[in-house]
Amino acid sequence: VDGGGKSIAAQVFSNGLADRLFSSSSSSRKLDGKVAVITGAASGIGEATAKEFVRNGAKVIIADIQDDLGRAVAAELGADAASYTHCDVTVEKDVAAAVDLAVARHGRLDVVYSNAGVIGAPAPASLAALDLDEYDRVMAVNARSMLACVKHAARVMAPRRAGCILCTASSAAVLGGVASPVYSMSKAAIVGMVRAVARQLARDGVRVNAISPHAIPTPMALGIIAETFPAATAEEVRRMVTREMQELEGASLEVEDVARAAVFLASDEAKFVTGHNLVVDGGFTVGKDLLRNPPSST
Ligand code: NAD
Repeated sequence: VDGGGKSIAAQVFSNGLADRLFSSSSSSRKLDGKVAVITGAASGIGEATAKEFVRNGAKVIIADIQDDLGRAVAAELGADAASYTHCDVTVEKDVAAAVDLAVARHGRLDVVYSNAGVIGAPAPASLAALDLDEYDRVMAVNARSMLACVKHAARVMAPRRAGCILCTASSAAVLGGVASPVYSMSKAAIVGMVRAVARQLARDGVRVNAISPHAIPTPMALGIIAETFPAATAEEVRRMVTREMQELEGASLEVEDVARAAVFLASDEAKFVTGHNLVVDGGFTVGKDLLRNPPSST
């Protein structure tokens, strides 16, 4: 009880602090009122992120080229929270239209998550066999499209002096040996681009960040491992992605882990975070613990 005869607990409850501490609606809905465009949201990481964004109070435009899957994800989330639009991210006018659709439908755009990507062909056994047309194809989807998303997001965000752009890079951006050189290069380009545009857009109040997941058993990752190891069974392929390509004991990387990283970066909790590459990899890119497990002991 304080000097005025009112208990501390009574003061806490009377000034509404208890509501703020215990109300699940304010603390668990981190994106209330925000509007987002998510590319590649018909499947995998993008789909999980669309669901996590809606769970956190956002309205989302699902932008993809897999129309049936994209429409099904939007239908599952409900017409009020989500809509689907066909958007090939290699076509600039499709990207512009997805951005404009968000503004037309919801009157604002807070988040663009440029996530669509392709893995391309497995690394050739010899670099002499590298197909440079493959480089052009992968770079168009994975790197050029990210710049198109940034360009059109900034077009509507900069005049409002607010907004958040996210780009999916990869652990392959910083590590050799986990993907083909073409894919690694496309993802490293994203990290470089994010730093360059974050600097430029900071003066407009727009934040830009990358998220770099490690291997997750989405159709993309399972597909490339199956192609690389054709003799492996589906179960062996899944185990390679979920166990053998991982370091962290006691947890496995799921699409929801990346979705929650995206929610954080898109939320006001990350209001001062820009130009960052949030690596979600259970320590994989940190390196091997050679002091405890010297190479000679294995
Ligand atoms: P996924 O195949 O499940 O999803 C990729 C989505 O992108 C699909 O819905 C696909 O239709 C869409 N897409 C492909 N080309 C497109 C285009 N031209 N226009 C519009 N949409 C297009 O794979 P995912 O694992 O969820 O991949 C999402 C992102 O995460 C990609 O950028 C990928 O490179 C990255 N990533 C994945 C992993 C992993 O292990 N799964 C790891 C690191 C980074």
